[in-house]
Amino acid sequence: MKHRFILISFIVIAAGILFIGRNKTYSRDIYGTFDTLCSISVHSASDTTEQYENLLRELDRKLNAHTSDSLVGRLNSGETVTLAPEMTDFLCTAVSYTNMLSDYFDITVNPIVESWAKAEENSALPDDIPQKLKLTGADCIHIDIDNNTAQLKEDGTSITLGAIAKGYAANVIADKMRQDGISSGLVNLGGNIYALGKKPDGSEWNIAISDPKNSAQAAVTVKCTDKAVVTSGDYERYFELNGKRYHHIIDPKTGYPSESGLNSVTVIDRDAELCDVLSTALFVAGLDEAKSIIEKFSVDAIFIENNNIYYTEGLRDKLILNNEKFTLIPLNQNNL
Ligand code: AMP
Ligand code: MG
Repeated sequence: MKHRFILISFIVIAAGILFIGRNKTYSRDIYGTFDTLCSISVHSASDTTEQYENLLRELDRKLNAHTSDSLVGRLNSGETVTLAPEMTDFLCTAVSYTNMLSDYFDITVNPIVESWAKAEENSALPDDIPQKLKLTGADCIHIDIDNNTAQLKEDGTSITLGAIAKGYAANVIADKMRQDGISSGLVNLGGNIYALGKKPDGSEWNIAISDPKNSAQAAVTVKCTDKAVVTSGDYERYFELNGKRYHHIIDPKTGYPSESGLNSVTVIDRDAELCDVLSTALFVAGLDEAKSIIEKFSVDAIFIENNNIYYTEGLRDKLILNNEKFTLIPLNQNNL
């Protein structure tokens, strides 16, 4: 009996080793979703990346603000839209972040985003920002939770999920990977990164954070396990007019690209959606107002301001500096 038990244990362990040994890394680049290049890789026994691509395309079809037949497009054209229950949940979450962080994060800034898109097209500053500011605020959108419907309340109002959708999508894909039993994977939705589990060799993932002045180069690398790493920066999308840079992150109080002095903010947490919201919000808030937000949501963050890289306590042993021009500065009671 004892021998049989040892033999069975041996077979089970050997089969396990054989199975793990058969795992390979499968990667795929995905073009044309979320207005950016996305890539997904998994370390598993078979290639499951196609189903994650399909999932990503399905989410993009719903959440893209630029297509008129998407859920967001239909809402923005004034339709009362019937939602799948998970979309009701997602919209409610986006609205509740807008309520909690209204000075910094507001999904109803879309009329202003459109004014700035026109400004770029015409190479002329917008002259309608004061009127557009009146069309913003979380009360513009009405969600009927019982009937799973949503509508915008006023003519001219519209929403963008550009600052939260990629984080939501990264969560959905990471959750699906977990359900599929994948313990090592990497999701990169145009810089919204989900590092699932550990690297195939068992060590921590190394996620590079761009130098905002030269985004192809890394400023600092963060080591992490099973975390989302999401960055908002003034170098990601911008245009220049009369020598001044106008980037894509709007201060909901002024209707102008935020001028907090920060060049980028990276937020690190298990919840990619929260990271996406907070990287945008903290970028607008700036260092001085960051403390209460970081404490409220208990996340780690990296702030790049010129050649200074500020980081929260939880990242103390997790950072590797890639460029000597930067100085790493821990955030503490004195400077946060
Ligand atoms: P992110 O790159 O995640 O910071 O999101 C920026 C995108 O979200 C922009 O391209 C806009 O579509 C939208 N956006 C800009 N400013 C804000 C804001 N303050 N709150 C919410 N969404 C915003
Ligand atoms: Mg964001």
